[in-house]
Amino acid sequence: MKSREYAFAKRALKLLDAVGKTDWGVRVVAEIPEPPSRETCRDCGSQAKTLGLCWPKGKILFLSSAQMRDDARTRETIYHEVAHAMTPGDAHGLAFEAALARVRKLDASDE
Ligand SMILES: [Zn+2]
Repeated sequence: MKSREYAFAKRALKLLDAVGKTDWGVRVVAEIPEPPSRETCRDCGSQAKTLGLCWPKGKILFLSSAQMRDDARTRETIYHEVAHAMTPGDAHGLAFEAALARVRKLDASDE
């Protein structure tokens, strides 16, 4: 893994830890795999699907190394997927939006 990819994976892991998802893992892959089940972030737009994937059943966040061109965008992808991890079954509902705001705040307070 390249150092930049490693830094993003570490950041995602730190956020997962901060919201109590201590047993989750992060995988940076060249290509986001097909969701192994329907219990994934399947409601995301095509963009989010390409950038990252939340797999609650496997407790894994996938991040696409091919899409890590833009730092701000990669951070948003991480927030998005961590928020999914916090709100299984909510898709992009109100609980998800609240979780997303919380993750953004957590990361900002850490800088
Ligand atoms: Zn989503």
